[in-house]
Amino acid sequence: MKNYLREDLRDFKPYDADEKPWRYKMDANESPWDLPSDIRKALAEELLEGSGFNRYPDSNATQLRKAIGEYWGLSHDQIVIGAGSDELIQIILTGFVDKGDRVLMPVPSFGMYRVFTLMAGGIPMEAPLGEGFRYDIHSYDSALSEGMPKVMFICSPNNPTGNTIHSNGLKDFIKGFPGIVVVDEAYGEFTRDTMIRWTEELPNLVVLRTFSKAFGLAGLRVGYSVSSRELADQINRVKPPYNVNSFSQKAAIKILENKDIIKGRVDRILEERERVYRALGKIKDVQVYPSEANFLLIRVPCGDAVWQGLYDKGILTRNFSNNPYLKDCLRVTVAQKEANDSFLKALKEVLGQL
Ligand code: PMP
Repeated sequence: MKNYLREDLRDFKPYDADEKPWRYKMDANESPWDLPSDIRKALAEELLEGSGFNRYPDSNATQLRKAIGEYWGLSHDQIVIGAGSDELIQIILTGFVDKGDRVLMPVPSFGMYRVFTLMAGGIPMEAPLGEGFRYDIHSYDSALSEGMPKVMFICSPNNPTGNTIHSNGLKDFIKGFPGIVVVDEAYGEFTRDTMIRWTEELPNLVVLRTFSKAFGLAGLRVGYSVSSRELADQINRVKPPYNVNSFSQKAAIKILENKDIIKGRVDRILEERERVYRALGKIKDVQVYPSEANFLLIRVPCGDAVWQGLYDKGILTRNFSNNPYLKDCLRVTVAQKEANDSFLKALKEVLGQL
């Protein structure tokens, strides 16, 4: 058949979500826990009483935005809801990037910045992180000297390296930057600081958050942006109508009403992250990178073989071995103790058999 795709997008491959059978799924940085059963019951009761699914969802997601506004102590006018933060990345790039505009992004980092930039007709400019994935505002210096981007991404904590960007000089930099700065805090609940507190002061800053990681709602696709009111208004103008379905909006509101449960779960992941980090540090031939997210990046002697060995034992991790910035690296999502212990045991066995 004739290839109807735009010529510059014909090399694209469908997104490979690595859907393979597994005993422990530790590849996609999801929460290991399903929605708390009380929340599932409450949602089921609402469904039995009448779902309202014959009606379109609230396109402005007003109730959910108000709940998020309360959660952060901000006005709901500063918030825009997306079908996952993925959709917000795409909305921002299609709305703000003209054909030929530059978009600056760190590497290694989340791959969708590049994909959505190309789809928007923009030019991705990659800023490699420093030695040992050192990440600060100077990581962008040499890329910036090639030309001013329209949009710039910061991913903090960075996926897949786990570290946050150093905040030294960052605020002044954003203040002086003429374009939009998107700070992706998809893993923000697993670290202490957030740039959300700067959004009232810095009109060109937009912070992205998601319900997919700490809040355990990856299957329902809800993310949000926080920015100045003016920027939120601009993002909202290019957002597709009805982009987040009514069931997902309800579930996200319910989960915010139960934020203590989520806080408890995050604390357990943080304890496990530190325990697994220390245990990995003791394994000969494994280099483990410090992480402020719900995953750990490790470097092993032969990444492909170790990934396969773990997979054969039912443990699914994310293989980055063939990425030039991440040679022989695997990323493992921190899960419950039992899964983490199985991963550690399997890793030792696999390394012993290399
Ligand atoms: N940003 C980063 C850094 C991510 O790792 C992910 C998910 N892998 C996303 C954004 C998108 O998450 P979601 O669309 O589920 O909100």
